[in-house]
Amino acid sequence: MATRIVVCGARGRMGRTIAQLAKASQDFEIIGGIDRATEDDSVSDDYPSIVLPENAAKLIGSADVIIDFSAPAALHSLLDQNADAFKGKALVVGTTGLTADDDVRLNEAARESAVLVAANFSIGVNLLLALAEQAAKTLGPQDYDVEIIEAHHRNKVDAPSGTALALGRAVAAGREIELQSVRRDSRSGNTGKRPDAEIGFHAIRGGDIVGEHSVLFIGRRERIELSHIAGERSLFADGALRAALWISGKTPGRYTMRQVLGL
Ligand code: NAD
Repeated sequence: MATRIVVCGARGRMGRTIAQLAKASQDFEIIGGIDRATEDDSVSDDYPSIVLPENAAKLIGSADVIIDFSAPAALHSLLDQNADAFKGKALVVGTTGLTADDDVRLNEAARESAVLVAANFSIGVNLLLALAEQAAKTLGPQDYDVEIIEAHHRNKVDAPSGTALALGRAVAAGREIELQSVRRDSRSGNTGKRPDAEIGFHAIRGGDIVGEHSVLFIGRRERIELSHIAGERSLFADGALRAALWISGKTPGRYTMRQVLGL
C-alpha cells in the first residue's frame, strides 16, 4: 500500500520537488500540502489541496507521514496547533535554522510520533558526517585545526547551514567535546590567536549554489579535506522520501538519517 504523505512548505522549492518525485513513484500518495497564504492562492498542480498550518489537523489525520521543508515558524504552528492529529503519525523534518527550543518541542512530539530530523537528506552528506566524526578521533585538536566552509544560493535565510553545524557536531563528538564550547562563526577584526580546539564556520552566499560543504583538518605539514557538492535539489527530496518510507509505521521516538541509511 502506498505511503500517504502531506508536505509542509508545499509551495516552496523543496515542497514542489518532493511532490514531483512522489508523483512519479508508486510508493507514495500525496494527500495534500500545507503552506502560508499567498496572493496567488490557486491550488498548485503538485498538490490536491494546500491548507494553512492552523487548519491542517484533518489532513494530518489522514496521512501516514508529514514531511516538513518550510521555516521554523511554520514548524512551530504545525506542531503547536495540531498536537492531537500528530499522535501515531510520523514526522520527517528537513527545515533548518532550528533552535535548542525547537529540539525540545520535537522531543515532546516524539513521545507520541516517530520523528526524524535531518539537516541534510543526501546519502553523501550523511556518509560525510560519519567520516568527519571518524577523522576527528584521529586528528586531535593539538595538531589539527578544524574549519568548516559552506556555500549556498543567495535565497538561503540561515547561516551557518544546518549541515555545516551537523558536521561541526560530528567533529566535536569525535573529539568528545560540546560544539557550543568551541564554535566560532567567521572571523573579523582583532581576533587574537586561534585556540586549539576551536571549530570555525564560514558561509558563502550567492547565485544558485545548491549546497557545498568542506571540513578541513589543517595540520602543520598536511591538510585533510572532506568535501561534498550537491548537484541538484532532487537529491534532498529523494532522501526525504526514502526517510518517509522507512519511518512510516515506526513506534514513537527520535530517529536519524544515519539509521535510515544504515551508516
Ligand atoms: P522555500 O523558501 O522555497 O520554501 C519554504 C516554504 O515554506 C514556502 O513555500 C513558504 O511559503 C513556506 N513557509 C515559510 N514560512 C511559513 C509559515 N510561517 N507558515 C506556513 N508556511 C511557511 O525554501 P526551500 O528551499 O524549499 O527550503 C525549505 C527549508 O528546507 C529551509 O529551511 C531549507 O534550509 C531546508 N532545506 C533542507 C534540506 C535538507 O536536506 N534537510 C535541503 C534543502 C533545504
